[in-house]
Amino acid sequence: MYIRIYPGNNPARCAVNWILGLVMNTRLCLICGTPISGRADKKFCGDQCRALANNQNKIVSQRILLNTNQVLRKNRTILKTLCPQGKATVRKEVLVAMGYNFDCFTSLFVTRTKQVYYLVYDYGFTPIMEGQIEKALIVSRQEYMKDWNPWKSLAAG
Ligand SMILES: [Zn+2]
Repeated sequence: MYIRIYPGNNPARCAVNWILGLVMNTRLCLICGTPISGRADKKFCGDQCRALANNQNKIVSQRILLNTNQVLRKNRTILKTLCPQGKATVRKEVLVAMGYNFDCFTSLFVTRTKQVYYLVYDYGFTPIMEGQIEKALIVSRQEYMKDWNPWKSLAAG
């Protein structure tokens, strides 16, 4: 007994079929739910379903890359806009109001005094406090920030 689910159907129902298959000791195609015979590591009933699964994975990967690239581009534009002279200090709220995403950066640079610069391509900022006020010191990326070695601080400690 099995319920055949066709490609494009609800993934939750496909998951139910997959679990049903495990319980009944029958392997089912991850895409359409058809019982699979043959090799134990087979996941799909045939080429069509394998291709469909590959395409779905590719679409998910592309979406992640596109979203991240978009965020990085926006972050860079914000830094560049706020820092026309190579160095500028702004309140954190200014970055937040402009839609800056602090999760996304392309590299790091940590100074000897442990000040962390979050770089986005050719711009970056380091968080600073002026009294109780959270600010960002924005800079254009310097030559010496380019050969950042993540293990350097471990060797020093
Ligand atoms: Zn299938």
